[in-house]
Amino acid sequence: MALSRAQGVLDELKALFGPRALLSRAAKEVYRYDAILVGPEPLAVVLPESREEVAALVRLARRHGVVLVPRGAGSGLSGGAVPEEGSIVVAFTRMTRLEVDPHTQTAWAEPGVTTARVSEAARPYGLFYPPDPASYRTSTLGGNLAENAGGPLCFKYGVTGDYVLELEWVDDEGGIQRQGRAAYDLPGLLIGSEGTLGLVTGARLRLLPLPRHRAALLAHFPGVEPLAEAVSEAVASGAVPARMEFMDPACAGAVEDYLRMGLPRGRALLLVETDGEEADLVEEELSLVEASARRHGAEVVRAAGEAEAEALWRARRAVSPALGRIRPKRVNEDIAVPRSALPRVVREIEALGKAFGLVVVQFGHIGDGNLHPNILFDPRRESEEKVWELAHEIARVALRHGGVLSGEHGIGLMKRDFMLEAVDPETLGALHRVKEALDPLGLFNPGKVLP
Ligand SMILES: Cc1cc2nc3c(=O)[nH]c(=O)nc-3n(C[C@H](O)[C@H](O)[C@H](O)COP(=O)(O)OP(=O)(O)OC[C@H]3O[C@@H](n4cnc5c(N)ncnc54)[C@H](O)[C@@H]3O)c2cc1C
Repeated sequence: MALSRAQGVLDELKALFGPRALLSRAAKEVYRYDAILVGPEPLAVVLPESREEVAALVRLARRHGVVLVPRGAGSGLSGGAVPEEGSIVVAFTRMTRLEVDPHTQTAWAEPGVTTARVSEAARPYGLFYPPDPASYRTSTLGGNLAENAGGPLCFKYGVTGDYVLELEWVDDEGGIQRQGRAAYDLPGLLIGSEGTLGLVTGARLRLLPLPRHRAALLAHFPGVEPLAEAVSEAVASGAVPARMEFMDPACAGAVEDYLRMGLPRGRALLLVETDGEEADLVEEELSLVEASARRHGAEVVRAAGEAEAEALWRARRAVSPALGRIRPKRVNEDIAVPRSALPRVVREIEALGKAFGLVVVQFGHIGDGNLHPNILFDPRRESEEKVWELAHEIARVALRHGGVLSGEHGIGLMKRDFMLEAVDPETLGALHRVKEALDPLGLFNPGKVLP
């Protein structure tokens, strides 16, 4: 961007946002990263506090031909919030208004509200907000909406988009739009669009009554194959557990090294929770899973009460820090495959890791066939190029088995070029036409999602 034009933009930003327009190199540094990629320094970072400020920013960007990169907490795992040169990062972390309405069992939330805060605010009314990405303490609703985030509870309860009753966003002309889920369902189009079609400024979310009863178990298997078969059988027999998470033996070993809580070594772990209104039905559902697990050679330990159940979920949440101790860096892959294909997919990925000479650890939301193979590496000793090559091979395994490129982390920058392999040219053409219709000047998050 020409220097004089850039100066004009910066002067206007300063006048509009004062100290909430971050212009110095040091202040902007942290906004170059998400949880996996890093980009160039943006022209500026702006922290708006209202929908009107967001609208004014879009009009400014339009006048000057500057692009906007929306950002929540930067916990994304596909490079979606990473800036490009000359862009303005719009960080929503100051838009944190949250209002729970127990009468309608809904909440109105601005995009900077963290995911965990919604359930915390709903709990005193006996309500909760089901979408629960493992990053829920830091991730924001803006990021969740843009990625259509999922989490362990999503097998039974559905993903972020299933809880949006109404969405508010700023369009490419700086207009403030607000719509419920009626035809044409523009909120449905924006949810999961990774910040490329508009800037979300609020959402009305559906809340659910907290289930009265919960029960949990840990089943450990000699390998992932019998584990996946047991899960398929349990689901076929009618069980719909609230959470069903798995770890391969390497992942379970890393968590045990980290927490020292007595998890069995050399075994594949299945963590299951059932919930509902009637205690006997909750128990019955868990028994269905237990019976399938035992038929496939598992040993099963039931959690005796809330504290033991909570310890199991603490183990699941410890996966990230536990893996961080094995190698200083990791690429967290995210694929989804038909559950029946899971044993073969896991085996092929294991073999790929060995062929590349890299450490690969696998875990995920097994109910949805959503797998997170993690490549752990030390950039001082192992080539990053090779790591990315392996990541792409892993995505190809998913496609070969009828799966998709991303289960929940999005396409972003990381998998953009892969869209050419994953999506046929006609469909890709249709996606480009949607982008051109809603953002003809390409103001919103350019270079993401579409190759
Ligand atoms: C340890 C760890 C565990 C994780 N576990 C899960 C998991 O279980 N499930 C899951 O789905 N994800 C998971 N994630 C990924 C990540 O947390 C989610 O994608 C989350 O939704 C990102 O939220 P964020 O606020 O950090 O968004 P950011 O990373 O800041 O941005 C993500 C995307 O949203 C866009 N965006 C942000 N705000 C807006 C807005 N207001 N309007 C328009 N676009 C916007 C950005 O441009 C970007 O494309 C995990 C990440 C980590 C680090």
